[in-house]
Amino acid sequence: MSVGKTILVVGGAGYIGSHVSLAAHERGYDVVVYDNLVYGHRSAVQWGEFVLGDMADADQLRLVFRHYRPQAVMHFAAYAYVGESVSDPEKYYLNNVAATLNLLRVMREAGCRHIIFSSTCATYGVPLGNPINEDHPQSPVNPYGRSKLMVETVLADYAAAYDLRYVNLRYFNAAGADPRGRIGEDHNPETHLIPLVLDAAAGRRPGVSIFGTDYDTPDGTCVRDYIHVNDLAQAHLLALEYLLDGGRSAGFNLGNGRGYSVREVIACAAAVTGRKIAVSEAPRRAGDPPALVGGTALAEKTLGWRPALPRLEDIVGTAWNWHKKISDESFGRLTPCPH
Ligand code: UDP
Repeated sequence: MSVGKTILVVGGAGYIGSHVSLAAHERGYDVVVYDNLVYGHRSAVQWGEFVLGDMADADQLRLVFRHYRPQAVMHFAAYAYVGESVSDPEKYYLNNVAATLNLLRVMREAGCRHIIFSSTCATYGVPLGNPINEDHPQSPVNPYGRSKLMVETVLADYAAAYDLRYVNLRYFNAAGADPRGRIGEDHNPETHLIPLVLDAAAGRRPGVSIFGTDYDTPDGTCVRDYIHVNDLAQAHLLALEYLLDGGRSAGFNLGNGRGYSVREVIACAAAVTGRKIAVSEAPRRAGDPPALVGGTALAEKTLGWRPALPRLEDIVGTAWNWHKKISDESFGRLTPCPH
């Protein structure tokens, strides 16, 4: 049933945006996805309307705001490869920052006053300790993280000056897929641990490399806080209700509040898939902090959010269901393994 509210999901053809679109549609919102399909997939837009367009195209955005009159924007459109952000920072600042300014300008013109912004734990940089709470200093160590922090700064200034309220959602490691297998993670190129491990389990890569085994962590490999994409989606809906009910602008961490090492993830994937996964040890990847675990008490307290799928088995299990499906459908379409 429609709640009579329209949300514009910018970047809604991507991994997290498509899961949020699905959840918003199921909650009764009218969803409009705006995406340039540079990294997104048209096939991931199944709930609501789709408009092809770039965030940098103000005229196209104006048409969309005029036609659909959204009450709120959810903004997922960003480049997100950390390594590429170091080698080609202009690409990141032009898209993630400058094009976002364009989106905000058109929102102001249209009188749209609510935005939920996809931010990241990468805005904290190398943490002083774990868990990381929202009051931890934000000191990103790469252009990707800086581009996200710049937008957070812009939002704070705009909210102080203009009639705008925002929620920044700082994701830890998004993972998993729609439990019904309708959508999931499909990056090209893929750099994330869980899909790479599942590729190895499926025989599409010879194995997986562990980037660093000499960290000061329990088993020497990096620890990360993996959070199910459906739990992220539910947090977006709660943040939307919070803003539409008049909540103050704020930033929230979204994670499970517990970390798993790279070796634990690989062991879990071997158990879930029942496959053998060949592992090799490789040097550290530049810029990887040893451990990143989110403190999520603020999201719990303010939004009433609590992850429903916190178990790593469920995160990896739903990802595996999806992975098998796209492996069957698109075998041979992916870029060849660089090993
Ligand atoms: N990682 C790894 N091998 C890979 C890909 C990732 O050991 O092939 C490690 C990486 O160093 C990090 C963790 O897995 O500690 C999660 O990496 P991912 O790229 O998934 O997310 P990030 O934490 O960088 O956002």
